[in-house]
Amino acid sequence: RLVAAEGGEPGEERFDRAIRPKALQDYIGQPAVREQMDIFIRAARQRQESLDHTLIFGPPGLGKTTLANILANEMGVSLRTTSGPVLEKAGDLAALMTNLEQGDVLFIDEIHRLSPHIEEILYPAMEDFQLDIVIGEGPAARSIKLDLPPFTLVGATTRAGLLTSPLRDRFGIVQRLEFYNVADLSTIVSRSAGILDMAIEPEGAEEIAKRSRGTPRIANRLLRRVRDFAEVRADGRVTAEVADQALRMLNVDEQGFDHLDRRLLLALMEKFDGGPVGIDSLAAAISEERGTIEDVLEPYLIQQGYIMRTPRGRVLTALAYRHFGLDYPGNTTA
Ligand code: ADP
Repeated sequence: RLVAAEGGEPGEERFDRAIRPKALQDYIGQPAVREQMDIFIRAARQRQESLDHTLIFGPPGLGKTTLANILANEMGVSLRTTSGPVLEKAGDLAALMTNLEQGDVLFIDEIHRLSPHIEEILYPAMEDFQLDIVIGEGPAARSIKLDLPPFTLVGATTRAGLLTSPLRDRFGIVQRLEFYNVADLSTIVSRSAGILDMAIEPEGAEEIAKRSRGTPRIANRLLRRVRDFAEVRADGRVTAEVADQALRMLNVDEQGFDHLDRRLLLALMEKFDGGPVGIDSLAAAISEERGTIEDVLEPYLIQQGYIMRTPRGRVLTALAYRHFGLDYPGNTTA
């Protein structure tokens, strides 16, 4: 899926390393997050303390990993990365933590997917920098306590509501990333194009920005595809027209919706008369996982006003009907 916000496309990683901002001042958009983090970082540095544990939440591709890296850079410390589903054994977490140096950042992506027993180990580690683990089994089992250096846990998750409250309560800083506006995405596209030595006109960057679902990762990915198109079908220069033609060819419409978005909207319209419909029925109707709808598809559609979330389920709005050139039948329940 071209506009999927998850990473993973071959070659993307190398490209990504080149363009990922490394300093807070290169982190585009998210003004509130940037201003606050700037203050917290300066204050921690002045006191020569580690930065408070920080939770970052927001849909995939909005810059959580990037921000975690920037926090470590700005604090002048190393970053170690792991993720919720990978941390299965207490020993894995212990190994990671005992290797931390004073002030280091431990980044746990998808922190809502930690298993409960790993979470239990995390609590005292976050609060008192104490590692409390049991090694061995049965009669030979013994518990050991280790002191850890002060460190910063940075957790990332798609939705804050997925976290258990004891875990959420242990973060001193909570940042929520918003979808990016077209101006910020245009800046991101132009910046990436500059790093890649591509010729792009401001209108070309804007065309890509408008169709990126408010998401930097998608903007950068579309930029790569548009570059291919510009090199093969045009003279290499990305104008608004070249960008539009390339994106049309890729089936990304003017709103940046791809076939999966359209499938979701059409299913709501055709199979459920515009809703309300429960998320599980909707997932079954388009053969997608509920989590994909909740984390990837729906946040942007809701933010843009195409879908509403009501207590009785998802409801299509008049805007969605208009998008498909249809009359809004009216919705008695919405
Ligand atoms: P997440 O961890 O939330 O899924 P990432 O941090 O991996 O998202 O961001 C995806 C890509 O988007 C990054 O590689 C980076 O190039 C770009 N990006 C994200 N946020 C910004 C930003 N604020 N400014 C510039 N580029 C960004």
